[in-house]
Amino acid sequence: MSEAFRQLLDATLQHMEALKAAGTKYVPVSVETLAALSAPPRRLAVRPSAHPVLTASRPAAPRPVDSSTSTIDSPETLMKKEAKDAALAALRQSVLVCQKCPALVKTRSQVVFGVGDIHSPLMFVGEAPGADEDAQGEPFVGKAGQLLTKIIQAMGLSRDTVFIANILKCRPDTPGQTAGNRKPTLDEMKTCLPHLLAQIDIMEPRVIVALGATAVAGLLGLTTGITKLRGHFQTFRGIPVMPTYHPAYLLRNQALAVKREVWEDMLQVMEKIGLPISKKQRNFFLAH
Ligand code: SF4
Repeated sequence: MSEAFRQLLDATLQHMEALKAAGTKYVPVSVETLAALSAPPRRLAVRPSAHPVLTASRPAAPRPVDSSTSTIDSPETLMKKEAKDAALAALRQSVLVCQKCPALVKTRSQVVFGVGDIHSPLMFVGEAPGADEDAQGEPFVGKAGQLLTKIIQAMGLSRDTVFIANILKCRPDTPGQTAGNRKPTLDEMKTCLPHLLAQIDIMEPRVIVALGATAVAGLLGLTTGITKLRGHFQTFRGIPVMPTYHPAYLLRNQALAVKREVWEDMLQVMEKIGLPISKKQRNFFLAH
């Protein structure tokens, strides 16, 4: 059993214990997992390229047609996926009712847990939900979010093939203001950070993109200017983290040079996770 799998199993067991303590008596398990559990152990290498994100633009390799095995994951892969699903579902339940920040609990419409493919190798992390995100319960759905979606699409992906989350899961309150958002404080992010850490530990993304100086400060504790940090991979719990500008900054600053910098950061991310990069993508800003 690999160390990563053992850690995942431990995390799952902890969540199961928490569910049990909260009174939950049953958890759903699919027929496929039950079948896999009763099958003899079989060790198969899990290839990163098996992920749909990584194979999106590649022709599928020819495989022998064998109805008994061609579409079934190995028992270990299947168990790992289901363990992740179960651990994330349990985590979501606990985060959705979190009351750690009384002021934010009072003003939030809902907790914004995160959205996307929990098995994706790529995670985007922003600072906190704004009014739009608070209303819809999904991160990055306002104008900045729409721009992030376009960036993801330019990478040859879609929103549902990556995972998008914020450090702070509740909208920062804006006392005395009738509109607008505010940045989360370092203390608020510190309080909420364990939720993101749990997400990262369960999902094990291969690369994280930290969007904007506030997210970089909250996640990495780095307060060096984002202009200096962007474009240079940092490491967080062994995972490469690419700091880049927040999409909202791109909306405020329409300079081509800034857009090109973000795109260059994304090219580095694509390289890191082994995504194919076309000539058009490589030269995107040279052609404009
Ligand atoms: S911001 Fe985070 S820690 Fe605070 S109440 Fe919301 S979910 Fe809980």
